[in-house]
Amino acid sequence: AMTALGAARPATTSVQVVSQTWSRDSHDLFDFEAHNLHSQTFSVPRSMVCVRNGTEVQMCGERDPLPAGGDALLRLVQREGSFWVDKAAPSNSSRKLWLVVRDLAGVGHKLAEGDVMKLGRFKFRVRQLVASACGGQQPELRLDDSGVMCAGEKEAKDLSATLCRICLLEGPGEDDPLITPCQCKGTIEYVHLGCLRHWIRGRLNLSDQPNGSYFYRPLACELCKAVYPTYIHNGQERQPLVEVPWTQPPFVVLENMVRDAQQHATRGLHVISLAEKVLKLGRGHESDVRIADVSISRLHATIFFRRGNFVLEDNNSKFGTLVAMKKPRLLEPGTGISIQMGRTVLHFAAQPDPGNAGTAPSLQQLAGGGSAQDERALRLSLLNRGSSTGSVGGGTETWRTSTNTAATGHSAEDAAGRDS
Ligand SMILES: [Zn+2]
Ligand SMILES: [Zn+2]
Repeated sequence: AMTALGAARPATTSVQVVSQTWSRDSHDLFDFEAHNLHSQTFSVPRSMVCVRNGTEVQMCGERDPLPAGGDALLRLVQREGSFWVDKAAPSNSSRKLWLVVRDLAGVGHKLAEGDVMKLGRFKFRVRQLVASACGGQQPELRLDDSGVMCAGEKEAKDLSATLCRICLLEGPGEDDPLITPCQCKGTIEYVHLGCLRHWIRGRLNLSDQPNGSYFYRPLACELCKAVYPTYIHNGQERQPLVEVPWTQPPFVVLENMVRDAQQHATRGLHVISLAEKVLKLGRGHESDVRIADVSISRLHATIFFRRGNFVLEDNNSKFGTLVAMKKPRLLEPGTGISIQMGRTVLHFAAQPDPGNAGTAPSLQQLAGGGSAQDERALRLSLLNRGSSTGSVGGGTETWRTSTNTAATGHSAEDAAGRDS
């Protein structure tokens, strides 16, 4: 929620908003390399709702009725001299706001446990970030629906004449109890822990990658289809059913958030050690998290460990790397952010009060090779420089161009002149 702000923050008089809408409507994607983006610019002086209608974006007053067919994207909220970006409606059903990682000034996004990131059409939840070996922490493998089973409760029963369904030998072995890991009953109810582990090892292929990185997925019984538990209780001890390698910190655990439509992806956990390496996500063979999908670039994004932080960076991917915003975000003067809502990306730059010594955005943030992406970033930065384009008054567009004209090297003024 928005709390009262201290007086130390420089006042913001308006927000410069640049919207870019992809003409196609495909899986809520935005093509950062597209040449047919519809671009608009607004100067927003007070709280407003940003609405999309087709490819048109407009700003509406907070209490105005939404235009017919309009899709409320988000709200800009003015509070005590500052502007915040928030969801269109306070309810949970309101759509998530996705922060565009490539447009974050400086060094990408510092990940936190619980973050949801989106690459192309694929979502991952950051389950665990372990920075150092101090606490002896290892990956928590449990997925939400796989419970813990108890082997101990069966100990009272005499199982000396009971068969293991895999090896067909009678009775528990030494340190190798007979367990009931699934819903199977009768003569196939019991299995040796060791026999089941051997079978799982063959299926999961937890290969010998350096520093104990692996992909864990829950396996189901082939007969009753029940998912095997992640952990078993053996007396007082809890141990993973699957014998996983020891993972060298710093490491990250990412959960694949699989929807039914995404048949390429398997539900599971990527456990990846960042000791001496950078985690690569992409379509290419060298990726640590490999996703074979057209919405994923060859090297789409990276996660690296630096000075105690896990940092997510986008690698100029075609369909972008996004992080779900967990709460309203303050627009700080001098630091622009971009938010993607389906096929629209909105860039926000708070305009500092001219009477206040606000810091202008630095071009050094945009240093780079001169690709279309750099051009785009540069153009956004130039727009932020405060050469005022007038104010909105109910949603009038003040300036417009298309990205492809800007990307061919003409100045913003040229493009505006041609388009108007
Ligand atoms: Zn057995
Ligand atoms: Zn079964």
